[in-house]
Amino acid sequence: MMAALLLRRDKKSTAAHLKSDLNRTDNSSGVRQLQELLDSVLNPEKPPADTEALDWCKCLIAGEEGFEEFCKTVRSYDNATLCGLVWTANFVAYRCRTCGISPCMSLCAECFNNGDHTGHDFNMFRSQAGGACDCGDSNVMRETGFCRRHRLRTGENVPSVPRDLLLMSEMVLPRFIICIIQYLRDGYTEPDTSAERDLQKVLQQLEPQITFLEELTKMGGAMRTVLTKILTNQQTFKDLSMGQEENVFAKKNYENYLSALKNSGLVSVEEKAQTGAAEPTRGSETGEDQDGQSIGQRKRVKLSSSTKDPSIMDSLKHKCFLEELLFWTIKYEFPQKMVTFLLNMLPDQDYKITFTKTFVQHYAFIMKTLMKSQESDTMSNRIVHISVQLFSNEDLARHVTEECQLLDIMVTVLLYMMESCLIKSELQDEENSRHVVVNCSEALLKNNTYWPLVSDFINILSHQSVAKKFLEDHSLLMLWMSFVSFFQGMNLNKRELSEHVEFESQTYYAAFAAELEACAQPMWGLLTHCKVKETQEYTKTVVRYCLETLQIWFDAIGFVDELAPNQVTFHLPLHRYYAMFLSKAVKCQGLDLESLLPDQEMLMRIMVHPLQIQASLSEIHSNMWVRNGLQIKGQAMTYVQSHFCNSMIDPDIFLLQVCASRLDPDYFISSVFERFKVVDLLTMASVHQNTALDGEQERPMLEGALTFLVILSSLRIHLGMADDEILRAEMVSQLCMNDRTHSSLLDLIPENPNPKSGIVPGSCSFEEMLSAVADFKAPVFELGGSMQQGMYTPKAEVWEKEFDPIMVILRTVYRRDVQSAMDRYSAFLKQSGMHTTGNPWPPYKERTPLHPCYKGLDRLLHCKTLHIVIFTLLYKIWLDHSNMSEHVLCMVLYLIELGLDNQVEEDKGDEVRPSHCHDSWFPGTNLLSNLHHVINYVRVRVPETAPEVKREREPPASTSAEASNFGQAQVFSLVAERRRKFQEIINRSSTEASQAVRPKSSSTRWVPPGTPPQLVTEILEIHESMLSLLIKLHQKLSAKQNSLSATWLEDMDANPNRHAHGDGITAIERILTKAATRSHQSKRSIQEICGKVFPPVAPKKNSPTAKKTMDKEERRQRARERQQKLLAEFASRQKSFMETAMDVESPDTEAAMDLGASEVKESEVLYDCVICGQSGPSTEDRPTGLVVLLQASSVLGHRCKSDEAKKLPTTDEERIYPADTCGAAHDVRLALMQSFFKDSSCLQSVSIGWDGGVYVQTCGHTLHIDCHKSYMESLRNDQVMQGFSVDKGEFTCPLCRQFANSVLPCRPGRSTEVVSWHMPSNKKTSVLVKEVEDLQEQLGFFPVSTTTESNLSKEMELVIKDIKNTTQRKYMDYGKNPGSPDNDFLFMYSVARTNLELELVHRGGNLCSGGASGAAKRSCLNQLFHVLAMHMRLYSIDSAYNPWTRLTQVAPSRDKMNSRVCLDDERPDVPMLFRDCPSLLIIFVLTMPQPLRKEHFICLVRMLYNLQYTQALAALSAKFSPEERQAWSTSGTLKKNAFNAEKSYEALLSHVITELSKVKTVYDVNTDEPSMVSHINVWSPQSIEYSLQQFCLPYLRLSCLLQHHLYGDNLSGCPEEEEFSGLAGCLGLLDPAPQPSNPMYSASCLDWTVSAFDLMSQWCSEVTGLADTQTLLVQDLQWASPHLLHLPDNYNTIFQYYHKKACTACKKVPKDPALCLVCGTFVCLKGLCCKQHGICECVWHSQHCGAATGIFLLINASVIIIIRGHRFCLWGSVYLDAHGEEDRDLRRGKPLFLCVERYRVLEQQWVSHTFDHINKRWGPHYNGL
Ligand SMILES: [Zn+2]
Ligand SMILES: [Zn+2]
Ligand SMILES: [Zn+2]
Ligand SMILES: [Zn+2]
Ligand SMILES: [Zn+2]
Ligand SMILES: [Zn+2]
Ligand SMILES: [Zn+2]
Ligand SMILES: [Zn+2]
Repeated sequence: MMAALLLRRDKKSTAAHLKSDLNRTDNSSGVRQLQELLDSVLNPEKPPADTEALDWCKCLIAGEEGFEEFCKTVRSYDNATLCGLVWTANFVAYRCRTCGISPCMSLCAECFNNGDHTGHDFNMFRSQAGGACDCGDSNVMRETGFCRRHRLRTGENVPSVPRDLLLMSEMVLPRFIICIIQYLRDGYTEPDTSAERDLQKVLQQLEPQITFLEELTKMGGAMRTVLTKILTNQQTFKDLSMGQEENVFAKKNYENYLSALKNSGLVSVEEKAQTGAAEPTRGSETGEDQDGQSIGQRKRVKLSSSTKDPSIMDSLKHKCFLEELLFWTIKYEFPQKMVTFLLNMLPDQDYKITFTKTFVQHYAFIMKTLMKSQESDTMSNRIVHISVQLFSNEDLARHVTEECQLLDIMVTVLLYMMESCLIKSELQDEENSRHVVVNCSEALLKNNTYWPLVSDFINILSHQSVAKKFLEDHSLLMLWMSFVSFFQGMNLNKRELSEHVEFESQTYYAAFAAELEACAQPMWGLLTHCKVKETQEYTKTVVRYCLETLQIWFDAIGFVDELAPNQVTFHLPLHRYYAMFLSKAVKCQGLDLESLLPDQEMLMRIMVHPLQIQASLSEIHSNMWVRNGLQIKGQAMTYVQSHFCNSMIDPDIFLLQVCASRLDPDYFISSVFERFKVVDLLTMASVHQNTALDGEQERPMLEGALTFLVILSSLRIHLGMADDEILRAEMVSQLCMNDRTHSSLLDLIPENPNPKSGIVPGSCSFEEMLSAVADFKAPVFELGGSMQQGMYTPKAEVWEKEFDPIMVILRTVYRRDVQSAMDRYSAFLKQSGMHTTGNPWPPYKERTPLHPCYKGLDRLLHCKTLHIVIFTLLYKIWLDHSNMSEHVLCMVLYLIELGLDNQVEEDKGDEVRPSHCHDSWFPGTNLLSNLHHVINYVRVRVPETAPEVKREREPPASTSAEASNFGQAQVFSLVAERRRKFQEIINRSSTEASQAVRPKSSSTRWVPPGTPPQLVTEILEIHESMLSLLIKLHQKLSAKQNSLSATWLEDMDANPNRHAHGDGITAIERILTKAATRSHQSKRSIQEICGKVFPPVAPKKNSPTAKKTMDKEERRQRARERQQKLLAEFASRQKSFMETAMDVESPDTEAAMDLGASEVKESEVLYDCVICGQSGPSTEDRPTGLVVLLQASSVLGHRCKSDEAKKLPTTDEERIYPADTCGAAHDVRLALMQSFFKDSSCLQSVSIGWDGGVYVQTCGHTLHIDCHKSYMESLRNDQVMQGFSVDKGEFTCPLCRQFANSVLPCRPGRSTEVVSWHMPSNKKTSVLVKEVEDLQEQLGFFPVSTTTESNLSKEMELVIKDIKNTTQRKYMDYGKNPGSPDNDFLFMYSVARTNLELELVHRGGNLCSGGASGAAKRSCLNQLFHVLAMHMRLYSIDSAYNPWTRLTQVAPSRDKMNSRVCLDDERPDVPMLFRDCPSLLIIFVLTMPQPLRKEHFICLVRMLYNLQYTQALAALSAKFSPEERQAWSTSGTLKKNAFNAEKSYEALLSHVITELSKVKTVYDVNTDEPSMVSHINVWSPQSIEYSLQQFCLPYLRLSCLLQHHLYGDNLSGCPEEEEFSGLAGCLGLLDPAPQPSNPMYSASCLDWTVSAFDLMSQWCSEVTGLADTQTLLVQDLQWASPHLLHLPDNYNTIFQYYHKKACTACKKVPKDPALCLVCGTFVCLKGLCCKQHGICECVWHSQHCGAATGIFLLINASVIIIIRGHRFCLWGSVYLDAHGEEDRDLRRGKPLFLCVERYRVLEQQWVSHTFDHINKRWGPHYNGL
C-alpha cells in the first residue's frame, strides 16, 4: 500500500525522501518502505524489457542529484592503484618484455604511452581473447614500467567515502542482482529439452540490466567495494536466493536452477549409477577399461573414472551471488558483458581471491560446457580472457592450488576431455592391442577445443611454486603420464602398397598440434623448474614414471622386438618426455646418466620406434609412400619444422644417441641398416637382390642411412653444447640456407622453454648473436624491381669456419634448402678464391667434445660392422657399382673422418668376448688400425648370371685359416648378427630375472631374407685395405694415375688449412693426412701404396648403368647451372622490357634508341607484328596497331601550387583542403566562364582531363589488327585464370607480357613524306597566316582516308570508342547540354592535352633535360594525334566563331562584333584574353588538314604567342599596385612611338594598362583580398621579364613538345634558367643568332601581322564591362609535380589516430579503416555500412578521387593496396621496422618507420601510371573493397 503510494510519486523525490529516512538512527520504517517499493518494482514476473525497474533503481541509488552527477561524485572517491582496464577482442594493447614478470603481461595504450619504455623490448598487439591492463600490479610487472598515474599511487591519498553516499546502493543492489538471477534462472532450459529457448534472446532482453551492472563497476573503487561485498556475502544470498517459498514464480525458478545444478558435474547422475554397477576393471595402473562403444567403423573407448577424485567430478553447490552468477555466465556461454562485469571488479583484491576460487570451483563445469558448445571458438576466447587474469599471478595460482586442488582439477578435466574421443590403437598388433589413443579426426582435436584448458595448465606450471607441487605429487604425475600416453602412437600411418589412398586424411596437423600443445608445452614448463641440483629428485621421479608408462605401453601394444611392417607414427610423447628429462638431468642437474637408464633390453625397445621414424623419413623422401598422398610428406616436414623440432626430432635423435652410446655398436649399426632396408645392398658383389626395396629406392635409402649415422655421431645439441653454442649453430644453419629477414629468422630458430616469449635460453641474446654471425643487407630499391626487405646474410668467416652441412640437413624442411646452402657455399668459395674449380663438397666440421656421459657414442665409429660397411662401399664406389653416388662417398668419408677425430681408448674387453665371424675381417675395433688392414678374399652369394661367376673358378690361395669362413659371413649376416646379439642380451638379462617368459616373437616370426635357389657362392679376390681404396679413389676422382706421389705426405704438413674447403680429392687427402699423423703404421702403409706404380689399366668401367648413376649428380648440377643462366638471361630481358615500358627517361637507353631511329628514314615505315612475326607497312586494308594501355588518370588534377606535399592529418585539428589543386582550380574557372559566356565558346577555351583524363601508353610493340583479334579470341577460349578480363578487351602484349587493353592503329605512309613537310620556309608570316586561314576553310578534308569505310578508319573509330569508355561520363560532360558535340570536341582535344601534360610531368615539369627524336618512337603521341584528328574532322568550327580571325585580324568595327554577339545569344563569346592558348593550339592542329606543314604549325605557334604574351601583360598589370600601374603606364607611353615599339614590353604593357583602365572593374577590386594577387614590393624590369617568361613558359613547353612529336624534332637540353630562350629558339620564335647581350627575350619573340596596339585594344575591349575579370585574368599556369601525401615518420602516429577514428559517412569506427594517400580521405574498407549502389567505399572513392585508380593505406595492416579499375593488388608496405622488414597486419607490433625510398617508388609508379606493369598478382575486387 505504502509502495503503491510511493510508486505514484516522482522517482527523484521518492529517492530523496527514502534516503533521508534511511539516514535516521531508527531507519526501520525507511527500510520497510524501501523493501516494499522494491518488491513491487523489481518483480521478476514483469518482462525484463520493461525498463521501468531499471529507472527506479538508478534513481534510488543516485538520490536527488541525478545519476550522471552521482557517477561523478562516486568516481572522485576512486582509490584504485591499479589500472585494471578490461578490454575485449580486437583491442589494441601493448606488451613490454623488459617490464613484464609474467609473459602474459599487457598494458592499455594510455598506460603504455604514459609510462617510460624507451629502449625496451615492447610490441603492440591486437588482443584476441580480450584482456586487462596490468599497470600498477607489481605481481605481473616491474614497477618501473608503471605509468605516471599508477606509479604515483594517487589512489592512496583519496579521502574516504562518506557513509550516506552509497547507502542506497548497498540496499538496492542486492535486490537488483537477485532479480537478474531470477531472470537467468527462468530463461534457462537444458539445450536438449524439447521446449528449446534461445539463450541469446534471454540475454538480449537482459542487456540493459547487465550493462547497468557493468557501468557500476566502472565507477571506481568505492562502488566496486559495495558490489563485491554484495556478491560475496553468504547471508544475503541465503536470504534472497531461496527464502521465497510463498512466491510461485520464484519457486519455479529455483527448481529450474536446482535441476541445472544437478547436471553440472563431470559425471552425470545416470552415469554415476552405472559406474556403481560396473564389473571390476582389470586393474591396470591407470584404471583403463575396455568398455568399447562402436562409433562408425572406429571403436571409441570409454574409460571408467573410478580412480579420480570424486569431489572434482561432482555437481556444484553455491553459497553466494558470485557463485551463482558465474554459474549462469557459464551456462549462457560467457556473454561478453557479463565477463567484463565480473572482470572489472578484479582490482579489488579480496574479490579477486574469491572470484578465483569460484572460477576454480566451476572449472570442470566450464570445460564440460565448452565441449558441448556450438560456438567453442568464441567461448574459448572468453574463458581465457578470464583465466589469464587469474592464473598469471603466481600468488593467486599457488593459493588456489593449495586450497582448491587446482592441479588435480586440471589434470582430471584434461583426462575427462580426452577420454571422450579415445579409440583402440592399431599400432603393432591391430587385433589384440590394449592401448588406447585419441582419435585425431574428432572435433575436440581437429578444432583444438582443448586449448583454453591446456593454456591455463601451461600458465600455472610456469609458476615455480605450482610446478613444484605438481612434481611432488606422485599420483598426479602418474595421472599425467597416462594422459600423455593417450597421444603415444596416435595418428598411425600405414604404407599403401598397391593403390593410391582414396582419401587423404587431414588429421595429421591436429595430431602434431595436440602433441605440441598438450604434451610438449607442459613438459617444457616442468623442465624449466628442473634446472638445478636441488631438483634432482623431481627428475628422477618423472623419469621413473616415464619408464613405467613406456613399459605398460610396450605391453599394451604387444611389442617385443620386431616392428609390424609398413607402419609409422610420428607421435611418441612418452619417449620424448623421457629423453628431455634425461638431457636436463645430465646437462643441468649433474645426475649420472647410468642411474636413470633402464636395462639393455628396455633400451633396445626404446630405440626401435624413434629409429623407425628416421627410416620412414628417408622412405618418404625416396617416394616409397607416394600412394599415401601428399599428407605423409606434410608429416615428415612438420616433424623437422622449426616449431616442432625441439619437441620432436631433437629428442628422438638424442634418445637414439643415448641408446647408441649404451648398446652394443654392432647391434646398433646393423639395426640401422636393417631399418633402412639396405642390408642387401651392402655386398661386394656387383649384382644383388633386394627383397625390400625397388632398384631406384636403394640409392636414396642408402644415402639416408649413412646421413642418419653421420647426424647421430656428430650432432651435439644435447650432448655437450652450451645454450649459446646451440643458438649460434641454429642461426648459422638457417642463414646458410638463405638470407633471412629478422622476423623469419626469429621464427625459424627453435626456442624453448617458451617458444612464444622470444626469450632464448643462454646468456647471449638473439640480437648479440645475430650481429656476431650475420651482416645486415639494407633493403634495395629499384623502380620496377621487387620490394626487398632488410636481410641478414652470413659473414664471410661464418662460411669459412662455421657452415655445418649436417646441421643444415637436420633442419631442412624442403630438400632444395640443402642445395641452396651448398650453392651459396660454393659461391662464397669462388668469390673468395678458396676453391675455384668444380663443385666443392660439404665441408667437414670439428665437433664440440662429447659430455663424458655420452662417450660411448664414439664406439659406433669403432665397430667392425661399420668398418665392413665402409670397406664394402669404398670398394663398390671404386668399381662403379650401381646405386653408389657422390653423396654416399661423401658420407662414408665423413664417417671415417669422424672416427679418426673421435678415438676411443682401446677396449681390452674385446678379447674376452666370444669371437665371431667379423673378427675374420678386421683384427680389432679401432678404426685407425683397421684402416690399413688388407682384406684378401671375400665370399659373396650372387646370382648365376653375375659377372663374378663367369670368371675362372679357382680356389683362392688360402692365406688365412678362416678364409673359407669369413666371406660367407659378411653380407648376409648383418640381420642375423643383430638378432644374435639381441638374443645374447636377452639371455643375459633373462638369467638375471628368471621370470622372463615373454614370448620371443622374433624366433618364430623371423625368416631369413629370401634366398632364391639361383644364388651361388663365389669368392672374390680383393687384396685391398681401406687406405688403398681411398688412394685409388683419389686417382679416380682426379683422373690421374699416381695422383699421389710417394712423397706427397711430407709436402702436406706445410699448410694444414689448405684442406678445409675443397672437393672429394681434398677430403681424401685430409683423411689420409690425419691417418698418417695419428698412426705410424698408416703412414708407412700410405707411403707404400703411393710408391707403387699402378698398372695403367684404369678401374674397369664395364657397367654403363653404374657410370650413369655416378654421373647423374654431375649432370644434374650442370643442368641446374644451365637453367639458372637461362633464368638470369630471361630476367634481364624482362627488366629491359620493363624499362621500355616505364616511359621514364633514362639517358643510357636514349642513345641506343637513337641509333634505331636514324635508320628509318627513307622508306615506308615498316611494322613487325609480334603475333605472326611478319613485317610490313600499315595499310588501309590491313592496318597495324600499337599495343596500348588506356587508363583514366587524375594525376594532373592532384597537382598543387606548392612543391611541398600536403601533410597527412594525424590530429583532429589538422585538415586537408582540396581547393588548391589543379583539378579544382580548372573546374572553378570553367564554371565561372560558363556563368558569363556562351557554353560552346567556353568549351573551346579550356582543356579538361585534369581529373579523369585518358592516358595512353604503349610498350612499343605492334601487331596486325586482325592478328590481334584472333589472339583475343584464343585468350577468351583459354580458361586459365589470367588476372585480367578478356571481355573488357584486356590482354597482355604477346611479346613483353605488358598489360594492355587496346590497339592504336598506325598511320600508313612514308617517313620521307614527313621529311618533305618539314622543309623550312621563307614565306612571310602574313602569307602564312592567310594560308592557314584558307586551310581552315577546308575543315573536314582528310587526305589519308580515301574511302570512308576502310578497315583503318573503322579501327580508328573503335579506338576512339575505347578511349571514351576508359573514363567516366562525368569526366566528359562539362557542357550544359550533356552529350552535345561540343562536349565531345572538348573531350577529344583534351585527351591530346592530357597526354602532353603527363609527358611533361614525367620529364620533371620542364623540357630542360631535352630528348632525342628517337624517344618519340616509344611514345604513341604521334599516332594518337592522328587518330584524334581523324575523329575531329567530324566536327567543324563555324567560321564565324573561328578564333583565328580574332587572333590575326582587327575587326572593322567593335560595335559590329558586339551587336552580333548580342543578337545570337544572351551570352557573349569568351574573350580572347580568357582563352587558353595551349588548348587553342591543339584545336587548330587537330582540325586542320593532315598532315600539317611545319611552316603552318610554326605560324600557329607565333600567332598564339602574341595572345599568350598579351595575357601575360594583362595578368601582370593586375598584380601591380595602383601607383605602380600608373608609373609603368606613364613610362611606357613614351616608348610607344619608338622604333620597334611593338616588340617593347614597356610600350605594350603601358598600352594594356591604358586599355584595361578604361573600365573600372578590371583593376578595381578589393585589395583586402591578398590571396589572388601576390605583391612583389617593387617591380623591376628584371622581375617583370621573369614574370612574363614564367607566364608564357607552359605554352612554349607544350608547343615544343607537340612539335617534337609531330615533326620528330630533337629537344635540346638547356640549363633551367635558360629554358625560355631554349624553347623559343627551338620553335623558331627567336632569331637563331644568340643574343646574349639582351636578356629580354620574351617581347622579341612577338611577331605581329597587324598593328599590335590595335589588336591588343580589340582584345582588351572584349573584357571590359565584365565582372570577375581579375579572377579570370590572373591565372597561374604553373603547377608543381604531383605528390602523394606527406606521411609521418613513425607509423604509430597514423595508427593511433586512425584506428579508432570514426568514418565521416557512417559515423562508426570501421572494422577495416583505410586512407587514400592521394587526398587523405578516410574510408571503410569492405564495410557494408558505407556501401552505395553495390559499391563499397574504397572502390567508390578510387573512382571519384583517382578516376578508378586508388592508393590506400590499410590502417590495421600497415599495407598499401592499389585499386586499378576492376582489379586490385597488395602493393606492400612503406613502413618498415628497425630491421628493414614489413609487418603486415601488425602481427609483430614492433615500431615501424617510414621508408622514404619505398614511398618514392610508390609515388613514382602512381605518377608514371605503371602500377599495371610492375605489380603482379592482381585480382578482381567485385566492388567489395
Ligand atoms: Zn591501463
Ligand atoms: Zn597505468
Ligand atoms: Zn617497458
Ligand atoms: Zn600479324
Ligand atoms: Zn610489348
Ligand atoms: Zn582520395
Ligand atoms: Zn565510411
Ligand atoms: Zn562505414
